[in-house]
Amino acid sequence: MTDNPRPETIGFIGLGTMGREMAINLMKAGHRVQAFDVRHEAVDDLATLGAQACRSVAAAAKDAAMAITMLPDTPDVESVVYGEGGLLTNPPKGRLIIDMSTIAPNAVRKMSVDFANTGVDFLDAPVSGGPVGAKNASLSIMVGGRAEAFARAEKVFAGMGTTITHVGASGAGQTVKLCNQLICGINIQAICEAIALGRASGVNLHQLRSVLLGGSAASWMLDKLGPAMIEGDAKAGFRIDLMLKDLRLVQEQAQALAVPLPATALMTSQYVEARAHGEGGNGNQALFRVYDRMTNRL
Ligand code: NAD
Repeated sequence: MTDNPRPETIGFIGLGTMGREMAINLMKAGHRVQAFDVRHEAVDDLATLGAQACRSVAAAAKDAAMAITMLPDTPDVESVVYGEGGLLTNPPKGRLIIDMSTIAPNAVRKMSVDFANTGVDFLDAPVSGGPVGAKNASLSIMVGGRAEAFARAEKVFAGMGTTITHVGASGAGQTVKLCNQLICGINIQAICEAIALGRASGVNLHQLRSVLLGGSAASWMLDKLGPAMIEGDAKAGFRIDLMLKDLRLVQEQAQALAVPLPATALMTSQYVEARAHGEGGNGNQALFRVYDRMTNRL
């Protein structure tokens, strides 16, 4: 990590739950942000906080030292890269592009080659830590790509996160992120089961959680999502729909490499059940409703 980073002009594309907070933190760290999102209201909102409002990808990348994308899924990033007026034809002046979304490792590797053919560096840098980590600039950032490009970007990453790791060549960041998601999903499922058993047995669930947090069952999920699960608060942070997208990427990679992931398969089917009951827009903690349905509590 570099102290006192030199301010950069950064094109930031995708100002949703995560991107908005990350872009704000870049400005707090002294960088200039040129912001674009298909939702103009998101751009205008960021402009009131000091960003330059842009109405196209090309405008956001113009004269920028680097461009960052924070978009939902692989086709969204592909459209910003390969679409008309996209980053491949209008790269930032500094020719460094960083995708921080969670998308398919294969797609990332192809983008990296396509950018390299035009003299542009590309890093995959997905994040973990959720909306709270994005707001507090305490994200864990896992980065794939050339070491020289990582060294250039490190001072910018420092404005958004605290654990910043170069994990290997292009696509490696996404692979590590998929491993992260697999653990998160199985952990959420385990917590739902513990709460279902504890509730049926009549124990105080808040006490159950705080005791478990002091022992070997402690986890980030139990700490951060446990209260909402116990209170029955399903409203979004990290949406079920986005987790299903990540689990699809996990399964695609596992099948391509012939790696069996039985616990992931079981947990994924519960996420599918949740979406079938209209929970796709709810937060991941809403997986507890699957258990509510199975125990006839809904
Ligand atoms: P989000 O849906 O809240 O935000 C995405 C933003 O991208 C929206 O504002 C949308 O309008 C914009 N967008 C979509 N297509 C666009 C396009 N073609 N051009 C410009 N803007 C476009 O999603 P999010 O929760 O911020 O997540 C973003 C990424 O980060 C996803 O890949 C997600 O899996 C990952 N992620 C999310 C969390 C979380 O807790 N929400 C945590 C870690 C990683």
